[in-house]
Amino acid sequence: MDFNRIKEKLNILADAAKYDVSCSSSGSNRKNTNKGLGNASNGICHSYSEDGRCISLLKILLTNHCIYDCAYCVTRKSNDIKRAAFKIQEVVDLTINFYRRNYIEGLFLSSGIFKDPDYTMERLIAVAKKLRLEENFNGYIHLKSIPGASDELMYEAGLYADRLSVNIEIPTVSGLKLLAPDKKHEDFAKPMLKVKNEIIRFKEERKLLKSTPKYAPAGQSTQMIVGATGESDKDVMYSANHFYKNFHMKRVYYSGYVPVSNDNRLPSIGTQVPMLRENRLYQTDWLLRFYGFSVQELLNAEYPNLDMDVDPKLSWALRNMQHFPVDVNKADISVLARIPGVGMTSVHKIMKARKFRKLDWDHLKKMGVALNRAKYFILCDSRHWERRDLDPQRIKGLILSTSYGKFRPQYSNQLSLFN
Ligand code: SF4
Repeated sequence: MDFNRIKEKLNILADAAKYDVSCSSSGSNRKNTNKGLGNASNGICHSYSEDGRCISLLKILLTNHCIYDCAYCVTRKSNDIKRAAFKIQEVVDLTINFYRRNYIEGLFLSSGIFKDPDYTMERLIAVAKKLRLEENFNGYIHLKSIPGASDELMYEAGLYADRLSVNIEIPTVSGLKLLAPDKKHEDFAKPMLKVKNEIIRFKEERKLLKSTPKYAPAGQSTQMIVGATGESDKDVMYSANHFYKNFHMKRVYYSGYVPVSNDNRLPSIGTQVPMLRENRLYQTDWLLRFYGFSVQELLNAEYPNLDMDVDPKLSWALRNMQHFPVDVNKADISVLARIPGVGMTSVHKIMKARKFRKLDWDHLKKMGVALNRAKYFILCDSRHWERRDLDPQRIKGLILSTSYGKFRPQYSNQLSLFN
């Protein structure tokens, strides 16, 4: 083995993979059998770099050769960069060696499209298959589904991978047409649908026959690039909602566009990556999945974009003051979940604790409620702090003047209005 060449390939293909953020490993539960190697369980592969991107898996491309020319991608065929491709066995050896050295706990394998989607998908599957069947590797494997790959290959991929993901990349059909004219929207939807149906089918069969193998036990995910095409937050979140509802996505990831090319269809090189927007989209996503909000409540024709100054739950509350104040000693769980500054853990604590006593501000504080936000929206067993004569703008100003978010300095222009 030529170690220098492998090292060079690793540098090139790990660097090219860093733009893909859809690599969370949550939700898998693969037990070690037959004295095999590794044991994937919830959360074991999580690790995040400073900017919040996941870095813990061996995260590489099989190749950065690509027949397509998506404008937003460093790997696009027209980009003049160093190219490389791993052999299947090289990826298997790297994974096993890194795993044994405790460097990694799983593999995240994506690829540029060489020759055609099926040929590429076959090679990704071959890596996973070798790891599972020949190396008896039970660690976490996340494979990218190649847009346009056949149903048969998608079926096979799910037998060896913990998670499958196909990146929609651009949230709108028109944006995709503009920036990735080689790709069609159906190329993404077809593998997603196949994976969704197989997950359901395997789960049903497992209920009848315990020995039915697992199929993509960590489900499927997708990633959208935000800020490349001038799409609104409404466009992004309505797409995400569509994926959650129709394809049973485990996660949708939002990746602020990193300018990688001088192309007049895209933000110019040097444009700031929209990290705060990315953060607000994740918060919105959380509200849809765990807090009972509908996407239409948070974003609609009147409010097509999220408020960058405050989180989306607070923003919604300020626009809907008729629902407040909420009496924490009486309200339903679904109503408590809508109070700004009250997370689901606190909601459950409130529900439990109020069976035994009437809750006041001290109780709420001890339960982890962020009172600097929540106090304007709550009634409890104390009148201290209560001020009901404030309008939403004033409340927003007071909250902002006592908040310290890591992105706040970028968006503090409105604060001066309330000082
Ligand atoms: S198909 Fe994938 S790897 Fe190829 S240029 Fe488009 S986004 Fe990049």
